[in-house]
Amino acid sequence: MLGKMMHKQLNISGLIDHAARYHGGTEIVAVETDGSIARSNWAKTELRARKLASALGKMGIKQGDCCATIAWNNTRHLEIYFGVAGGGMICHTINPRLFPEQLIYIINHAQDQVLFLDKTFLPVAAKLGEHLKSVKAVVLMGPRDEEAAAMVEGLLFYDELIADGDDGYVWPELDENLPSSLCYTSGTTGNPKGVLYTHRSTVLHTLAGNQPDGLGIAARDTVLPVVPMFHVNAWGVPYVAAAVGCKLVLPGPGLDGESLVRLIDGEQVTLALGVPTIWMGLLDALEKTGSKAASLQRTVVGGSALPPSMIAEFRDKYDVDLIHAWGMTETSPLGSLNQLLQKHTALSADEQAAVRLGQGRAPWGVELRIVDDAGNLLPNDGETQGDLQIRGHWIVDTYFKADSSALTADGWFDTGDVATIDPDGYLIIRDRSKDIIKSGGEWISTVELENIAMAHEGVAMAAAIAAQHEKWSERPVLIVVKAPNADPSEADLLGFYQGKIASWQVPDKVIFVDELPLGATGKVLKNKLREAHGDCLLDKG
Ligand code: AMP
Repeated sequence: MLGKMMHKQLNISGLIDHAARYHGGTEIVAVETDGSIARSNWAKTELRARKLASALGKMGIKQGDCCATIAWNNTRHLEIYFGVAGGGMICHTINPRLFPEQLIYIINHAQDQVLFLDKTFLPVAAKLGEHLKSVKAVVLMGPRDEEAAAMVEGLLFYDELIADGDDGYVWPELDENLPSSLCYTSGTTGNPKGVLYTHRSTVLHTLAGNQPDGLGIAARDTVLPVVPMFHVNAWGVPYVAAAVGCKLVLPGPGLDGESLVRLIDGEQVTLALGVPTIWMGLLDALEKTGSKAASLQRTVVGGSALPPSMIAEFRDKYDVDLIHAWGMTETSPLGSLNQLLQKHTALSADEQAAVRLGQGRAPWGVELRIVDDAGNLLPNDGETQGDLQIRGHWIVDTYFKADSSALTADGWFDTGDVATIDPDGYLIIRDRSKDIIKSGGEWISTVELENIAMAHEGVAMAAAIAAQHEKWSERPVLIVVKAPNADPSEADLLGFYQGKIASWQVPDKVIFVDELPLGATGKVLKNKLREAHGDCLLDKG
């Protein structure tokens, strides 16, 4: 015989099985919906996940059925991640901030059989009630609760449900190409689209995404995923955490800066992950409380562009490395992550920060390219902008229940982002293709305009949009929320652009508002801003 290697399917259950076997006593700490702290560990989580898989089977839920969650980051949610997927069902995480019509659409489209809910979201479920066609059981993620039972007819209780589960249940060995989880894109227009991840895509994303130049999480880390478990599987962190057996800290509903400071200091968090707005809240709270976040070594930031001053603030005040990453629901999400190369080690801290400001490089397993409107390949010279496309082991091919593939004829996924890539492969996202401003045939990056505005001390938040213009077709307009106790004028802000960008790129106008409209994942809804202000440069007389 030629000889052969063992063949085992890449299953998500293998990750939690490893965690329980080799890191069983390592803690998982979670803030419950009522604000109390719950402590579990990998062994208990794995046992409860198996009992859940068994209990779902007894309820008649079959392999391939979708089970939905509307929940915070907490221990039961983690058990559901592994129990549902490990048992061969599909864990469908839902963003609670979606409008009720979108929730109804998503749940019916996925034909969710079970709906797991944290108590916070019971009123949402009570409202959806009769519109849900497929849901056989609504399960409150907690012990029996009479107040909750009165709100939703036939409500089940998670802790009772798993008490019925068999602790001798053995994880099935599943074909690694079977689906394991489902996430819908946050789609600002039209119906959201589902991305159906497989066991194989998830396990490969876990292993490749956690290389030393990736997330780099080790067993000795204490990891705080602030990124919600309903947002692209919390960027894959629960799977990585199980694969390495690190301590996990799940923040529950407390996402404000002061709650995070308490958790970081209390649990000695070494790595935290989240979107830029979360870190703005954390930086404010650190300032207010005087905490130095002494245990924190790294934060990973992604989901939207990183404000330039943030790297220096984390580095200089708290000795924390900020790692910028890019991805999307369709990419599991890790598409790129910014770590330095050997040749950068001799650079000054500020020069290194300039390299790290971009979205970084592709890990093994994905490839990135930029193309023009006709699909021609563009050079990786760091200057030429084009449509960013991606392919790899954990990238969508066909949306959930779609008739045809979402890929280009030659097999790449078009991200809808406009980017440059430099000769070392460092990616910079310049804009969303639908947000970029096309002024007289030239492109102006809204991200660049926003970054400059955000560096002004009088600005709390800024968004640049394309406003229609009679001569130039579109011109930039800046929408600004002033910083507390600051009162910058339009002239101050426009003057701030001088010398930083070409004069024709400077916005034509600044509009001050009390707040920016945010979507379900905390991103500014530029389409709403364009609707409200897109005609402000037109002569309406
Ligand atoms: P979602 O599928 O909701 O996670 O949104 C994905 C989109 O978020 C991407 O296509 C980008 O437009 C944006 N995005 C994600 N990460 C970054 C980042 N680090 N910098 C700039 N934009 C980002």
